[in-house]
Amino acid sequence: MTDYQAPTSAVLDALDAAGLPALLELDAFAHVDRDMVTTLVEEFGRFVDEVIVPTDAIGDDVGSRHDPATGEVTTPEGFVKAYRRYVESGWGALAFPEEHGGGGLPRLVGLALQEMMTSANVALSLNPVLTQSVIEGLTKLGTPDQQRRFVPRLLTGEWNGTMVLTEPDAGSDVGAVRTRAEQDDDGTWRLTGTKLFITWGEHDLTDNIVHLVLARTPDAPVGTKGLSLFLVSKHLVDAEGRLGVRNTVRCASVEHKVGIHASPTCVLDFDRAEAELVGEVGDGMGLMFVVMNSARLSIGLQGLAAAEVTSQQALAYAHERRQGRVATTPKGESARIEDHPDVRRMLLTMRSATDAVRLVLYTTGAQADLAAHHPDEDVRARAKDRADLLTPIAKGWSTDEGVEVASLAIQVHGGVGYVEETGVARHWRDARIAPIYEGTNGIQAIDLVMRKLRLRDGSVIADLLSELEALDGPLAEAGDELAEVRARLADALVAVRAATAWLIERAATAPDDALAGATAYLDLLGSTLGGALLAESALRLRSPRSIGIATFYATERLARVPGLLGPVTAGAARLVIA
Ligand SMILES: Cc1cc2nc3c(=O)[nH]c(=O)nc-3n(C[C@H](O)[C@H](O)[C@H](O)COP(=O)(O)OP(=O)(O)OC[C@H]3O[C@@H](n4cnc5c(N)ncnc54)[C@H](O)[C@@H]3O)c2cc1C
Repeated sequence: MTDYQAPTSAVLDALDAAGLPALLELDAFAHVDRDMVTTLVEEFGRFVDEVIVPTDAIGDDVGSRHDPATGEVTTPEGFVKAYRRYVESGWGALAFPEEHGGGGLPRLVGLALQEMMTSANVALSLNPVLTQSVIEGLTKLGTPDQQRRFVPRLLTGEWNGTMVLTEPDAGSDVGAVRTRAEQDDDGTWRLTGTKLFITWGEHDLTDNIVHLVLARTPDAPVGTKGLSLFLVSKHLVDAEGRLGVRNTVRCASVEHKVGIHASPTCVLDFDRAEAELVGEVGDGMGLMFVVMNSARLSIGLQGLAAAEVTSQQALAYAHERRQGRVATTPKGESARIEDHPDVRRMLLTMRSATDAVRLVLYTTGAQADLAAHHPDEDVRARAKDRADLLTPIAKGWSTDEGVEVASLAIQVHGGVGYVEETGVARHWRDARIAPIYEGTNGIQAIDLVMRKLRLRDGSVIADLLSELEALDGPLAEAGDELAEVRARLADALVAVRAATAWLIERAATAPDDALAGATAYLDLLGSTLGGALLAESALRLRSPRSIGIATFYATERLARVPGLLGPVTAGAARLVIA
């Protein structure tokens, strides 16, 4: 069936909408201009279409294989070659600071490239995604010596990185981690324990793997306060950055999963593995959050990537497939299913959700760039708060949307959608993990409601809502063209204001009530933000397409937002399992 084609012009439009031009005005990006970004996006789009897309189906069919005798993992045919080409072209390093050997591009542009890689092959894309999170962690938290020995090869992609938190009894509850970190008499740290579900924990794509591991030191307090962060290199690395002997970390098995078959999800045994402390003893959880916040945005992209690729497939299929008739169908012929109103509804639902998710993710990425690079400290602080507020939405809401859109793509295909050959089911299976890992979406919703709404005494969310409300003026000026968008957005924002006030009050006085409404609120706020960003795009572009998408989203999605106020504020008392 139809392969994915990198949607480079939609990506470039969304980069502009998210604020790329303003970012490129900053001194930090003086060496980058808009033409360079266009060239990179287009070149990378061609690269993924030609090199990465062809690896996707075989990756799903064959999967990565574990050899229990050696503990080694072999990736499907073509992966090593495709990954080498990715490394040789230097794509992975583009969005990292020049002082570490990166290309110094905005993170926002890095996200755009990552989106295309993820749509092309989500299982393979996870390898650079995790590596990039580890680079982010080491460049911020590692010692100069660790940075010098590990970062350059992670940047090129010659080595890859992993994030190692989960254990059989420590999933969402990271504080339950039991892996022990003990110091030998010579001061060397040694890790002992079993970690579960470690993405790309072992494989044949790179010579070395750099694990960032949470472990508990002797006599450490219980819970997250007792955790420290360690670097465990598959092969020991000497003072000059050269690879030495194999460390005592071994892959015991690889999971059989619903999707992302080519991404090896490993059980890792650490048997007195030599480790280096990152940061201070007891700071592990806080440090891991630096790594996780970067990863959460990337995992949010998996929702977008699944939505984009399956929207493309559904649109192409609906154009080919003929069934039934519509009023204009000539006698003796059948209509293309794209002409049936219900199929059009599905296609527009998919396309508008995909566009909305892209804007939410890119907007969050732009805030992360401002937080890192704006010269004014106040602007940096506000951008960081905004990025913190948006991150659970970017991860949680986007990945829920991605699964929904992929599921709708199956519906558009009818029976063949449920048959593997079309490939659409594969993307749905692949997408299903994103709401689970990197903090389940339930945990994202709780983070949003219990922590992020309270940022700076509620002023961070209040400022966001005021900005969205300020769209009312320009929408009014646009007249009839955007009247429906204006009306639905206004109603949605009234509901968001009411829900937010209720949750902030309950979080302090009756936390279970706030927790019970958290997931509905994630949907309510995510949908409203998505609708507002589509409205903003329509105001800016004034094209029939942008107005049509914003209007469709307003009537289908924003119109439902006030109805979510009920579930948000229904409280916990109703949640009785008989
Ligand atoms: C394919 C795959 C790849 C993964 N990759 C990695 C990796 O690279 N590194 C790594 O460290 N881990 C990884 N994980 C682990 C993943 O992050 C965890 O599975 C996830 O955090 C959920 O933990 P759990 O599976 O133990 O579920 P649980 O924590 O048992 O959660 C089960 C359910 O209970 C809910 N729940 C749990 N606690 C609460 C609470 N306090 N309040 C409300 N609801 C709650 C959850 O939302 C969920 O719906 C991976 C998992 C998979 C399947």
